[in-house]
Amino acid sequence: MSKSFFVDLSKCTACRGCQVACKQWNKLPATETSNWGSHQNPKDLNFSTYKLVRFQEVTGPGILKWLFFPEQCRHCVDPPCKMVADGFNEGAVIHDEATGAVIYTELTKDIDVASPEELCPYNVPRQNPETKVWSKCTMCLDRVQNGMLPACVQTCPTGTMQFGDREEILEMAKARLAVVKKTRPKAELVNADSVRVIYLCEYPAAEYYSFVTADAGPSLLGRRQMFAKLLRPARVFG
Ligand code: SF4
Ligand code: SF4
Repeated sequence: MSKSFFVDLSKCTACRGCQVACKQWNKLPATETSNWGSHQNPKDLNFSTYKLVRFQEVTGPGILKWLFFPEQCRHCVDPPCKMVADGFNEGAVIHDEATGAVIYTELTKDIDVASPEELCPYNVPRQNPETKVWSKCTMCLDRVQNGMLPACVQTCPTGTMQFGDREEILEMAKARLAVVKKTRPKAELVNADSVRVIYLCEYPAAEYYSFVTADAGPSLLGRRQMFAKLLRPARVFG
């Protein structure tokens, strides 16, 4: 039975336990950072930072909101990144049938795109400038295959992050949305049908970060498929 996450942003306190747990379990090196005027640290995802809690301050007449967005790969149901990657090397990105996890291998070094956005509508993967290998969240597949929760979910102290069988998670997300909507009428579940990391936003998604949502509908997928096909002859004859 495939898996999914539910991330209830109405509960997140930006403690960053999930970000640290991800580093620790995946044995990822620290990223050297400097003060750039925000608690968000590091400033962006990178090839050794798979999870980043983004901070956004929203102000207006009588309004002051601090919004937190623990960002990671969404493990898309039909992953556009795999469609693009297959055009370069069909073994580069693996879609695990049992869980739905989208897994990047060392063969992603063959993916020749100019920016993460050409690979992913959520702007998630990052490339190691030395090895050229692309990386991102693994769903902690090694833990999940052994009956454990992903490290970020295991660590979250507020109940923001949940993980389990997809149907149960979808039911949980819909039930929670109904509760949150009573006080936050604009609350929404983001792209719930097309991703396995389902965010509940209390406020309009774009207020949190520009890539919270994505046009992962048929038009984008159609372009990705076309792009992947176009790339195949280039690889054969290149
Ligand atoms: S969020 Fe991006 S990197 Fe993750 S599966 Fe979807 S397209 Fe691929
Ligand atoms: S561990 Fe939970 S509460 Fe803390 S930043 Fe991550 S999602 Fe938010």
